[in-house]
Order: sequence, then structure tokens, then C-alpha cells
Amino acid sequence: KLHNMVQELKGNIRVFCRVRPILPSDLTPSPSSSPNGSAPDDIEELKVKMQANYLYPDRHDHKEIVISSSSESATGQERKELHNFAFDRVFEPDATQADVFEDISQLAQSCTDGYNVCVFAYGQTGSGKSFTMEGGATEQTAGMIPRAVAQVFRVAEELRSKGWEYKMEGQFLEIYNETINDLLGKGDFDKKKHEIKHDAKSNTTRVTDVNVVPLHSPTQVQSLLSLAASRRTVAATLMNERSSRSHSVFTLRISGANASSGERCEGSLNLVDLAGSERLNASGTGNDKERLKETQSINRSLSALGDVIAALGEKGEKSEKHIPYRNSKLTYLLQNSLSGNSKTLMVLNLSPLAVHLNESLTSLRFATKVN
Ligand code: ADP
Repeated sequence: KLHNMVQELKGNIRVFCRVRPILPSDLTPSPSSSPNGSAPDDIEELKVKMQANYLYPDRHDHKEIVISSSSESATGQERKELHNFAFDRVFEPDATQADVFEDISQLAQSCTDGYNVCVFAYGQTGSGKSFTMEGGATEQTAGMIPRAVAQVFRVAEELRSKGWEYKMEGQFLEIYNETINDLLGKGDFDKKKHEIKHDAKSNTTRVTDVNVVPLHSPTQVQSLLSLAASRRTVAATLMNERSSRSHSVFTLRISGANASSGERCEGSLNLVDLAGSERLNASGTGNDKERLKETQSINRSLSALGDVIAALGEKGEKSEKHIPYRNSKLTYLLQNSLSGNSKTLMVLNLSPLAVHLNESLTSLRFATKVN
């Protein structure tokens, strides 16, 4: 009861923050950042500084993250803005995938009750978005997509004893430069034109000409993720570059019918790995025009998403027709999953490194806007 009341007061938007651990690769100087190479001393220093930048004053209930002003590299402007950022949940670098999923599983399974659920991973490239959403190939490192799908299957199976029969199907799309590509499609990647069709009457959205795969078992999702990855690899030699500049949207649609009670319900679970939020420098390369277009469409769609979530958070003050879904493909695609019977979670992924402090602050400010 109390939980429901809190839910009611807070609306259906949650924001979590996850700071990834330091990786061995962080300690290896990249040729571009350090032309002369770095002495081991410098590496140590970076590590120490970095740890001083994130303080967790309230380890016990994990309620907020504080970015301290201890970084010597912070300018006056930055220092002024260093302050507390509060989240519904903060995951420190040692948090496992299972720890994170523990706080997401309830939300994920609520699609079996007819909710439209959206989980977004937001952050700069390299902050851990794909790790959080897709994760690694082992059971331990599996990310939120495979875990959420498995959870939905488990719950659907449990509900069979109460007369419910569920059908599930999956779709996996990429939005790159404001065009939609089918990550599970047949034939040439990037070639077909896909349009978003929104039916206001039934509040449903569908995308033309995409492969919607019936899901029969939770293990199927791993092969879908691999298929999607291989299609992206074919599409771009620099796969990581491409995937860091596009949004990927995994959607599980579920429809249930209860033969004994005659009830029906439809829900969806959307798991979105957003394009890297870093401000890209579009000058000085041979691919300026293409890069500029990418940068603009990423900036536009991320701020459109922020606007929509912020507007949804002001529920009651604004009526639904004022929510600017149409300003980007992403928000238009997810329109029915962000409105009405919906639950939204934003996971803010942060790099632990001092050198990324500015980008982290930009991300934190974005989170404040939607929180
Ligand atoms: P992004 O999708 O934001 O660009 P990635 O998910 O690819 O970032 O993460 C960058 C690197 O950090 C990858 O090598 C990934 O495996 C690793 N990584 C990210 N988060 C974690 C974590 N929580 N634990 C271990 N390794 C992580």
C-alpha cells in the first residue's frame, strides 16, 4: 500500500545512476591523448584523482551521488556547479548486473500487467550503456535485455496457473541519423524504408516492413542480439563508432488472455541503448558533413527525449497533447510506451574517470531535468 502511494506521488518516472569500474584499458594511455606515453606515476595519479571525484556519503541507502569539487582540474565555472545529484538509486562501480537487475525486475515484469515499460541507458560513449543493456555472453555478465526477457517469461509461466496465456514477440530497431533500420531484418541492412505509423484511436505504434519475431523461449534473445550485432558489423566497418552514434531499441510485445475470467491485456517492454551523449567535435576531419549530421540528429533526439520525459513528469499540469513526441523519431516511435499506462526508467551511465568529469556533469544535468 505504502509503496503504491509513493509510486503515485512520484509518478511513473525513475532515474538510476550507475558508475562503471575502472578498466585496465583506462590505465593504458591512448596514443592520441598522450603522444609521448605516460609514466606509471601519471597513471597512478589519474586513478587517485578519479576516486576523489566521486564520493558516496550515504552508502547505506544509496540515495545520491555527490560529485565533489576536489578535482584540481575543475575550472571556476565547473566548481560552482559541482553539487549533489539525487537519484532513485545509485550503483557503485562494484555493482553486478544481478544487483542492477534486482531493482529493475519488478518494473520489467509489469508489462505482463498491461504496462508499457521503457528503460533507457543514457551516457557518453564508453560509460557502460551497452554493458548495462546487452552485457556480456556469460550468465554473470548478461545485461538487462536478456534478464528482463527471462523474467517476463518466468512471470508469464507463473500466471498460467491463474488461467493466463501469453504471446510474445520481439523487434529490434536502430535509429541512425533519424532513419530507422531493422536489426533483425532479412536482406540488405539500411536499404528498406521504414515508417512509423501511429494510430491515435488504439494508441498503438507500428513500424512498416520490420521483422517481428515470435518469442518462444528466453534463450532466443541471445541469438537475436547476435544477429543484430552481425547486421551492424556488416553495415559499418567501424561498428563501435556506428553503434555509439545510433539508438537501439529492443521491444518485447506481450499480449495475454485469461480464458476463465475473459480478461485480456497488452503490454510492452522497450529497452533502449541511446546514442553516446558526448558532444562531438565536427571539425577537422574528412567526414565533417556526415559527422555534423550525426551530431545534430543525436543532440536533437536526446533533447527531444529529455523534453518528453520532463513533460510527462509534470503530469496534471499539462495535457497529453502538449507532449512533444513528434520532435524525434525516437520519441515518436515510443509515443504509446511513454504515455498512458507507462513506466519509464532512465539509467544514467557514468565513467569514473576524472578526464570525463565534464561529460559526466553534462549527463548529470540531463538527468536532473528528467528527474
Ligand atoms: P557504451 O555502450 O556506453 O559505449 P560499453 O558498455 O561498451 O559503453 O562499456 C565500455 C567498456 O566498459 C566495455 O569494455 C565494457 O565491457 C566495460 N564495462 C562497462 N561497464 C562495466 C561494468 N559495470 N563492469 C565491467 N565492465 C564494464
